[in-house]
Amino acid sequence: MKIQAAVMHAPGQPLEVCEVDLAPPAREEVRVRIQATGICRSDLSYIDGKWPAPLPIVLGHEGAGTIEAVGEGVDPQRIGEPVVLTFSPACGRCRMCLAGRANLCLDAAKGLDSGFLRDGTSRLELTGRPVHHLAYVSSFATHAVVPADAALTVDPALDPALGCLLGCGVTTGVLSVTRRAAVRPGEAVAIFGCGGVGLAAVLGAGLVSALPIIAVDPMPLKRELASGLGATHTIDPGDGDPAAQIREIVDDGVDYAFEALGHPDVAEQAFRSVRDGGTTVLIGQPGMGVKAGVDVYNATQFEHTILGSNLGSGVPALHIPQLARLTVAGLLDLAPLVTHRFGLDEINEAVATTASGEAGRVVVEPSFGRTSRARHDRVDESDSLDRGLTAP
Ligand SMILES: [Zn+2]
Ligand SMILES: [Zn+2]
Repeated sequence: MKIQAAVMHAPGQPLEVCEVDLAPPAREEVRVRIQATGICRSDLSYIDGKWPAPLPIVLGHEGAGTIEAVGEGVDPQRIGEPVVLTFSPACGRCRMCLAGRANLCLDAAKGLDSGFLRDGTSRLELTGRPVHHLAYVSSFATHAVVPADAALTVDPALDPALGCLLGCGVTTGVLSVTRRAAVRPGEAVAIFGCGGVGLAAVLGAGLVSALPIIAVDPMPLKRELASGLGATHTIDPGDGDPAAQIREIVDDGVDYAFEALGHPDVAEQAFRSVRDGGTTVLIGQPGMGVKAGVDVYNATQFEHTILGSNLGSGVPALHIPQLARLTVAGLLDLAPLVTHRFGLDEINEAVATTASGEAGRVVVEPSFGRTSRARHDRVDESDSLDRGLTAP
C-alpha cells in the first residue's frame, strides 16, 4: 500500500515527507496505523549525523496507533487493538531476557541498528528501492509494519498522543527512578536536564514520594514545567555550581542524582551532588566515546555508585502497558509534558522545535494538519485525568 512517510536521505538535510510503498506484514508481523509519534533526542542524533544510520531511512521510535492488519501466525483478533510500539521486542530466550533484563535483549539489539526487520529485509520502498526501518518502529509515517511482539497492547482509553511517549522517553525517565535506581519514599533526588526524559524522571520521583525532588535546568520554561510536575525545588545552573546549590537544600547532598542530558560536564556535576553512599544514574546519551571524569578517591572512600540506565531497566512488554494504566488512571500525568503538536507534513518544524531545547516533548500526529493546529495548541490536560480507572 501507499503511505506517507518522512524519509531521511542524508545527515544534516531536512526529512522528505513523501509517498512510500509499504509491503504487507510478513509472518509474525503486524501493520499499525500510526496515530502519534514522539520526537526523541536519539532521532536528532541520527538526523545531525552524530550517530550513523543506514540510509535512506524512516526514523521515529516512539509510536502509538492501532493494529489494522496481521501477518501469518498472528491472531486476527488483534486487529483493532490499540498499541504502543517498542524498539526492544525481547526474544525471551537470551541470557539477558532470562535474567529479567529484557531491555538488553541480545536478539533485539542485533536488529536495532540493522535497518531491517527480523528476517533481514525491509517492508518500505521508495521508487523501487528499499528504505530502512529504524529499530523495528519507523513511526515518522502514517503506517508501519513491525514485529507482532513490538506492538504492545495498551488500555484503549490511553490517548495515543500521550501513549507514544511510553515507547522511549517517558518509560526511560520514570523507570530510571522507580526501577533502575529503585528510589524509596523520602529519599532525596536531583534531576539534571528537564527535557522529556528528565521531566518524566520528575514524575517518577513523585510516584515514589521522593523528597525533595530538585530539578536542574538553565531554561525557565523547563524549570516551570518541572515544578508543575512535582519538583519541590528548581535550580538554575547559571546561578552557580548546582552541586553547591543542592547542598543548600539538602545538607549532605542527595541520595540519587539523575543525569538526563548526556553532557559530560553535567554528569560530573551529578557525581558531585550525591551524599556519601549515594548513587548517580546516567540516562542521557552523548555521542559515542564521550567520557566524563570521576573523583576515584571520593567514589571509593564514600561508596558512590554510578548506574547506567537504558530504558530504566524496563521490561517493555511488562512496564509499558503498566505505565499506560497509570496514565489512564491519572496517576502519571503525561499531558503537561507535551508542549508542542505538529502534523506529519510539519515534521521538520517538529524536529527543529525539539532541537531548540525549548520544548518538553514534541508529538507528531499524521492526522494533525496545519489547518487544525490552531485549535489544538496543547494537549487538553484534563483529558487523561477525567477518564478514571478502567483497568486493573
Ligand atoms: Zn528515544
Ligand atoms: Zn532476549
